[in-house]
Amino acid sequence: MKAFTVRIRFHGDLNIFLPRKASDAVIERRLAEKTSIKDVIESCGVPHPEVDLILIDEQPVGFDHPLANDAKVEVFSVRNRDTASTEKHLQTTDSSSFVVDVHLGGLTRNLRLLGFDVAYNQNADDRQLLELMIRENRALLTRDRRLLMHAIVQHGYCPRSQNATEQTIEVVRRFDLSESITPFTRCLRCNAPLQGASKTEVIDKLEPLTKAYYDQFRRCPGCKQIYWSGSHFPKLEKRIEEIRSRVRDKP
Ligand SMILES: [Zn+2]
Repeated sequence: MKAFTVRIRFHGDLNIFLPRKASDAVIERRLAEKTSIKDVIESCGVPHPEVDLILIDEQPVGFDHPLANDAKVEVFSVRNRDTASTEKHLQTTDSSSFVVDVHLGGLTRNLRLLGFDVAYNQNADDRQLLELMIRENRALLTRDRRLLMHAIVQHGYCPRSQNATEQTIEVVRRFDLSESITPFTRCLRCNAPLQGASKTEVIDKLEPLTKAYYDQFRRCPGCKQIYWSGSHFPKLEKRIEEIRSRVRDKP
């Protein structure tokens, strides 16, 4: 087979995955055998769950599109999506349940605080994370791009920031979650949906001051943790409001 050249331009913030020398976000690959566009894109460092649209000669193609001749390719992220376009998108934005890798504990807590279903297990290895992702049809959140490139990953996202609040804002935007936020409905420790509990049901578990000052409680049916709007509550409400308002003012 005659060697051929594929020239790929990465749009939006996909350039963060590219080698530093690709400052104009264009990479050229010289290939000598038929290769899928997905493999060529991932060989540049960009995980496939980050890719929402691939155009070759202005025509949208799927991940399995084979390359065998010279081609100019344009690659777009979900963030580039023009809501008016009817092009063939490769990602959905409607995941609302997640599995999160062990390094993203702060993000996990914030997403649960907003009411989202987030599986997190400090002792799970990569294989167990991927199994849970498939079994429960969850989107994978990880900063490990090798893990995100695993062939069985359908939906996923690599948080750009190292800061948990920024990561949360990114995930809410990426999966279009702003209308689905239901704060204080999920256990921050174990992810179970919380249930209302009357004071008499929980009274023997409460400290004296809590007993005296609070009347409304929620209880986790999983780990039995009791929640009430105590002294930590204004701080959490402030965090939720910050996330909401930042999501509203799109960059
Ligand atoms: Zn719990």
